[in-house]
Amino acid sequence: MSRRRRIYEGKAKVLFEGPEPGTLVQYFKDDATAFNNKKHGVITGKGVLNNRISEYLMLRLAEIGIPTHFVRRLNMREQLVKEVEIIPIEVVVRNIAAGSFTARFGMPEGSSLPRSIIEYFYKSDELGDPLVAEEHITAFGWATPQDLDDMLSMSLRINDFLTGLFLAIGIKLIDFKLEFGRLYEGDDLKIVLADELSPDNCRLWDVKTSEKLDKDRFRRDLGRIEEAYQEVARRLGILPEGGPRDLKGPETMQ
Ligand code: UDP
Repeated sequence: MSRRRRIYEGKAKVLFEGPEPGTLVQYFKDDATAFNNKKHGVITGKGVLNNRISEYLMLRLAEIGIPTHFVRRLNMREQLVKEVEIIPIEVVVRNIAAGSFTARFGMPEGSSLPRSIIEYFYKSDELGDPLVAEEHITAFGWATPQDLDDMLSMSLRINDFLTGLFLAIGIKLIDFKLEFGRLYEGDDLKIVLADELSPDNCRLWDVKTSEKLDKDRFRRDLGRIEEAYQEVARRLGILPEGGPRDLKGPETMQ
């Protein structure tokens, strides 16, 4: 088994100690969960695709000046990232009503929003990731007003950029979730984009047909889940070299 130290195992990823201090290896699994862990499944090849998709999107965001934890992809299922202190807040950006938002406001799925809406959720499995206000975040010390300012302005820029990037390949960016971390470099502290950006945490609909190309296919048992993730990678021009047959990737974690 692994000689590397396992730092953390989440639902879709494992974090190992990296080769140099201040780095981690992020391993992408095929496991999928939904509804606060109540639904479990395996989406064959998802880890390979999400590793590749997240690499691509993080690199494109870095090009426009968004600081990220991403360093480089190591292999089919692993990427090297900078070790950050994760801020325990999920930032959700919404352009079109979907998911929990539709239930909360009694809006039909697919309704346009008057403008992009940002929401914050406190990361806690026990509490089921409750929706929180800035007041809670700053009062409980999960992030400072300055951290929140940085997270908000980066989230809006990321939304503008990704909306255009996906539109160019016939995909509507409905909503997505971001996580940020504190990166300490000497005496400097900066907030950087962390975690992953993939069809696991974005809602992506085909522009013409509104077909779902994301994890909602798993959440709602819509079938053709693997195909949807592959289609996103194909349109981004990054389907692994060997085509879909390459997607299983290594069976064992190194
Ligand atoms: N999301 C996520 N992780 C979570 C909750 C939500 O990545 O724990 C993403 C989800 O894929 C969607 C967006 O955040 O793109 C908004 O999700 P929503 O609040 O509608 O919750 P859901 O309907 O997924 O429970």
